Amino acid sequence: MISVEEALTTILARFHPLEAERVPLREAWGRVLAADVVAREAIPPFDNSAMDGYAVRLADCIGATEANPVVLRVLGEAPAGKASGFDVVPGTAVRIMTGAPIPAGADAVVMREETREAPDRVEILVEPEPAEHIRRLGEDVPRGSTVFEAGELLNPAALGVLASIGVAEVDVIRRPRVALLATGDELVPVEAPLAPGQIHDSTGPALEALLTRLGAVPVPLGTARDEIEDLRAKIAEGARHDLLITTGGVSVGDHDLVKVVLGELGEMAFWKVNMQPGKPLAFGAVGDTPVLGLPGNPVSSLVAFELFVRPAVRRMQGHARVQRPRLTVRLSHLLEKRMERRQFVRAWVHVEDGAYQACSTGPQGSHVLTSVARGNALLDLPPGAHRFEAGTLVQAILLEEGEAYAGRHPDR
Ligand code: AMP
Ligand code: MG
Repeated sequence: MISVEEALTTILARFHPLEAERVPLREAWGRVLAADVVAREAIPPFDNSAMDGYAVRLADCIGATEANPVVLRVLGEAPAGKASGFDVVPGTAVRIMTGAPIPAGADAVVMREETREAPDRVEILVEPEPAEHIRRLGEDVPRGSTVFEAGELLNPAALGVLASIGVAEVDVIRRPRVALLATGDELVPVEAPLAPGQIHDSTGPALEALLTRLGAVPVPLGTARDEIEDLRAKIAEGARHDLLITTGGVSVGDHDLVKVVLGELGEMAFWKVNMQPGKPLAFGAVGDTPVLGLPGNPVSSLVAFELFVRPAVRRMQGHARVQRPRLTVRLSHLLEKRMERRQFVRAWVHVEDGAYQACSTGPQGSHVLTSVARGNALLDLPPGAHRFEAGTLVQAILLEEGEAYAGRHPDR
């Protein structure tokens, strides 16, 4: 039996970032940059006012106070959105709006609240600092500077930065296309009624959603029967994608033929990974396409997805960090482990009094998908120990985004 870490290391060695593609800015969110971005425009693109107020000459305003204001003649108004034609000569000021270009001759802005206004003139009530309330050309991003580097993740604010320097299209790592193949004579799609002995393919829609959430493109291939011919055809079709994920048929049953066909079509290793759920795992390649054969039990396949598929997909997407963050959490009740193996327990992690607490989401059988659906984390219980008392600190893998940890479990 190999460890989770050994399996992951072997898997990741086979994955590399995919090629670049050029996409419109709006489609670049969450993607990884394939090339450095050099700013062809500066941010800000010109000196402009940070306040509504008056553009003035410092030299005119020395010693200005409320009791002893400086009186300046107002030349006119400088709104945002057009070049200023004014020249602020000694003794004058320009009424200026936030974002408007600083007129020639001015070297500070006095905010409106620090003035008294009268027709055609203004009283300045404070002495401004040099360049006060002026946003300097290139102060955030100088022209010609590298604003983002290849390998960086584009978050929403990064799209804003790119928009502000006029980048309408960006080179990012393309999305991986991941084929999904369920196997099993008992499986029918969710739309079809069940004949005796049949079950719906439950893993397919779940894996599809996980891939979509990850930013990959799922390509569902439906279900293959437990027959060599059908498996061969569908696996060959799956191998035309960036990754093929199969579910089921990798265990020791008489009809577990996936490993037979994978071995025949490509190079394949079959592992028993020291974990529960999700022990059997196939990994290899058909042609250039890596293949991950996940176990059939729905929970096992979802846990194997989290531990092995997700990091592999993130590697193809060009992410530097491929693994989810782990957190130390406190058990809110006793957990007992039946097996010797390392166990990943479906749990609800939430913040209580500023600290993370975890409770189990219920029965942990490999077929009990509801306890995955009701959870937001996996607790990583090491092999060996069997009892984990309330209050014990354990490692949790967080599966959801921030808000999912904000409160108590809705059912508890
Ligand atoms: P297998 O490894 O193919 O023997 O599958 C193990 C168990 O998981 C069996 O009870 C299968 O019916 C079940 N199973 C396999 N694939 C799926 C699936 N896509 N959806 C729901 N259950 C499945
Ligand atoms: Mg099967």
